[in-house]
Amino acid sequence: MSLSIFDLFKIGIGPSSSHTVGPMLAAGRFIDQLNADQLETSQPKNKTSLSAISRVKIELFGSLALTGKGHATDTAVLLGLLGEQPDQIDTQQVDSLVDQIRHQNTLNLAGEHPIHFDESRDLIFHFQDTLPEHPNGMRFSAFDQAGMICLQEIYYSVGGGFVLSNDEIKAKPKLSTGSELGGISAEHRPYPFQSGSALLAQGQTSGKSISEIMLLNEAALWSIQGTNMPQEQIKAKLLHIWQVMDDCVRRGCKATGILPGGLNIKRRAPELYRELTEKPENALKDQLTVMDWINLFAMAVNEENAAGGRVVTAPTNGAAGVIPAVLSYYVRFLPHANEDGIVQFLSTASAIGMLYKENASISAAEVGCQGEIGVACSMAAGALCAVMGGSNEQIENAAEIGMEHNLGLTCDPIAGLVQVPCIERNTMGAVKAINAARLAIRGDGYHHVSLDSVIETMRQTGLDMQDKYKETSRGGLAVNVVNC
Ligand code: SF4
Repeated sequence: MSLSIFDLFKIGIGPSSSHTVGPMLAAGRFIDQLNADQLETSQPKNKTSLSAISRVKIELFGSLALTGKGHATDTAVLLGLLGEQPDQIDTQQVDSLVDQIRHQNTLNLAGEHPIHFDESRDLIFHFQDTLPEHPNGMRFSAFDQAGMICLQEIYYSVGGGFVLSNDEIKAKPKLSTGSELGGISAEHRPYPFQSGSALLAQGQTSGKSISEIMLLNEAALWSIQGTNMPQEQIKAKLLHIWQVMDDCVRRGCKATGILPGGLNIKRRAPELYRELTEKPENALKDQLTVMDWINLFAMAVNEENAAGGRVVTAPTNGAAGVIPAVLSYYVRFLPHANEDGIVQFLSTASAIGMLYKENASISAAEVGCQGEIGVACSMAAGALCAVMGGSNEQIENAAEIGMEHNLGLTCDPIAGLVQVPCIERNTMGAVKAINAARLAIRGDGYHHVSLDSVIETMRQTGLDMQDKYKETSRGGLAVNVVNC
């Protein structure tokens, strides 16, 4: 695997990793490329290429066009062209930044070169067309004053906030998505693995847990890139990821109101939080109250995500509530929970996520919701099994169960918004993950269906799935529920 743990867990902005975070990063890459070109042409540094640009055109294709409005893809590319980054942008400023562009018909490229911007002319949704390499394609063009194209680039947002240029995606096999930190050979890791069985074999030979393998591989990855990242630093980075997740849960428990987008969906987390905290004695009468808490954690995150708040891709935004909900369950409900357990949880989850990313897909536009909620459930199941004391074999079993019972899950968001069925679906994914971990921990690790088999089955099922069920809002609930 040439992926980093932090490729799977990226701090970003809602509502979608593939349709918001990815396009924002792609727009940023386009700006970077304009700046890189200025260096190649040896023109005086500082604004030379940007200052030659008088118009930028963005074209969105396939799923990015069909659900782009609901997933805020248009907003995302504008923010990226402004020079904003998904992990750093002040989420409270998004509306005013975009309103400014729209009211003034001016786009300040990289925050330093204002150009005229006519959204109806310069931001095009190609609802009928798809670019050849992936359903989430976009084309950026920059023009000079004479109307000549100075630079044109195609990017693909391949799921989970990963972006590949046209050249990069062509260099990779179909349905295999590379790391942003790509170019690192798996052989440079102390414990390379490309499959679940290889991961288990590494564990058997070395006597190490999956988490230990991941932390050692991660340190090697950073070292190969020239960055000394001791394990303590990796652990601190993982605890920061948890902190951002936990902050998101806490914000979501308090934020009231209607979610944006026009469906008039009311936030449910704050009411549930109030009920659970005002009458804690109810838990004595109903032992399944813990399930209400798990539902609350997941809903809180995904309502924040739907409102464009700060979330961590886990491994995507649409499924961003599953892992924080299960990790919150571990932290708040399991005895002996501690920081080492949080690190173990996230590093184990990332190993499982990498297997899906490298051998199938985490893009709903490619494989449906199996690639989002299904993968998040599988990651969370294995991770919870690990912190409950499960062996590597039991972890692999839990991860397999987590996906086996999500196979065929379609993506059909109503009105293209990441709200229905997405928010509730995260609660289902979280509860299912806990059940999968419990099933696995009661066994001895032996099981009939391997994780590798279920990943391959998920990939094939995704290929067979009709496009209308793959983040296009052209089938399923999206066409059978009347919008009021
Ligand atoms: S239905 Fe699933 S895959 Fe589709 S947008 Fe919602 S959470 Fe993401």
